[in-house]
Amino acid sequence: MSERVDTNDSYDAIVIGAGIAGETCARRLSVAGMRVALLERDMVGGECAFWARIPSQTLFGPANEVWRAQQIAGIHSPTLAGPGEYLSEQEGVGHVHLPDRNDSLEAETLQKIGIDLIRGDARVLNPGRVRIGERVLNTSRLVLATGTQPHPPKVSGLADAGYWTNREALGYKAIPEHVLVVGGEAQAIELAQMFRLYGSEVTLVTHASRFIAHEDPGVGDLMKEHLRRRGIRVLVGRALCQVSRDPDGNYAVTLAPDATLHAQALIMAGSRKARTDVLAEPARSSLQVTDQGIQVDQFCRAAQGIWAVGDVTGMVPLSHFARYQAEVAADDMLGQSHPARYMSVPRLYFTAPPIAATGLTLEEIMKKSLAVSSVTVELSAPHPHLSTNQREEHGHLVLHADRRRGVLVGAWAVAPNAGEWIQLAGLAISAGIPVAVLHDTVEQYPGFTEPYRLALAQLISQVDA
Ligand SMILES: Cc1cc2nc3c(=O)[nH]c(=O)nc-3n(C[C@H](O)[C@H](O)[C@H](O)COP(=O)(O)OP(=O)(O)OC[C@H]3O[C@@H](n4cnc5c(N)ncnc54)[C@H](O)[C@@H]3O)c2cc1C
Repeated sequence: MSERVDTNDSYDAIVIGAGIAGETCARRLSVAGMRVALLERDMVGGECAFWARIPSQTLFGPANEVWRAQQIAGIHSPTLAGPGEYLSEQEGVGHVHLPDRNDSLEAETLQKIGIDLIRGDARVLNPGRVRIGERVLNTSRLVLATGTQPHPPKVSGLADAGYWTNREALGYKAIPEHVLVVGGEAQAIELAQMFRLYGSEVTLVTHASRFIAHEDPGVGDLMKEHLRRRGIRVLVGRALCQVSRDPDGNYAVTLAPDATLHAQALIMAGSRKARTDVLAEPARSSLQVTDQGIQVDQFCRAAQGIWAVGDVTGMVPLSHFARYQAEVAADDMLGQSHPARYMSVPRLYFTAPPIAATGLTLEEIMKKSLAVSSVTVELSAPHPHLSTNQREEHGHLVLHADRRRGVLVGAWAVAPNAGEWIQLAGLAISAGIPVAVLHDTVEQYPGFTEPYRLALAQLISQVDA
């Protein structure tokens, strides 16, 4: 391919990928006065805006609220109409919130603040040179923000039979009678619960021995119970052996050792892999690239003149983490370097009920040989410490405290407002607030802090104050 040589093709910074990570980084650099090119081959906004958190929560959230409303004694309506009743036949559920999947507004906003948005498939030729279409762009600051893509396991017949990823699942046009969801992490649970709320029979299968395997075992155990309570069939420790499809499109999925499941839709919502195909040699060899992603230091530097941010780093695949890394990298490029602080990143999953965790897990605590005290507070309705008296509401809060230092080091919650609950623990871990200070802090009533009062009252006698 011939190269177009143009003096306009030199930039202070080039950012590849316009998801939450790339867009945040490009904006910050541009506002600070740099000449920035943002390269995107698909949609400005990336996975989060069009195929993950936002569409998922748009569909799942309201359906879940209807379910929660029905748990209040005496309330039997509202009922969920189902997409057939509020959509025309041509529209899928996804069209309600994503007409045409149009990103022109986002693109216009970027261009207004001076960012050159260039559409196409980018390829890094070497650390300072990027090809996009017929152009070769030059820079001394390159940011890789290319995210991840589904990476289903190799299973006999799967590729021929075809399957849905999160993209097809969140753009469906009719509710399948029976959905088989494969995966053990939050996005698989979220999709399984969503289809169940819309009326499908749902089976959720994971080869792992428990759900949300990277968190404390209690998280997965509780989630399994919640899934069963919602009428989802749950199979753990079961691997797929064979997938086939009959002429009507129905799936037959064989699991080890000998079960066969039948379904109209198969969703592979398990592992994802970093999109590193953007790197040509010799650019690739200048970086440390593993199956998990591109390795970065505490300033998100991947190599001299190259930064990597967001899901492509393989660290914490969550939007707020991607945005934070983008800010750390931008500050580094702007001469305001500060090392990233990851000790209290909230790990929040919008399952039902939501899961939230922060700080160290039990496994990490053991690796560090810390002497900890752990307390568990279990709340179930009717209970004054939950915000409502819904029949099915339950809440669990677990705190881990370093006995010697008298501070929190980890926490998790599985509860209707777990995302709010976890913030207090995150701040306490990040700032090293002593358990004694937390215990003596008066909070309003009622509120999410109520479970902390019960937990801290137990913890205070177990740590050196
Ligand atoms: C089903 C699902 C549910 C989720 N729910 C949540 C949630 O509830 N909360 C939460 O915090 N997170 C959630 N996530 C995770 C969240 O979506 C990601 O953490 C976030 O999208 C990461 O942003 P990113 O910018 O790193 O990557 P992405 O959003 O993947 O953006 C990367 C961009 O790079 C572009 N690109 C890649 N290669 C090239 C190339 N060669 N040339 C040009 N462009 C390229 C892609 O087209 C893409 O637009 C969910 C994810 C999924 C899949």
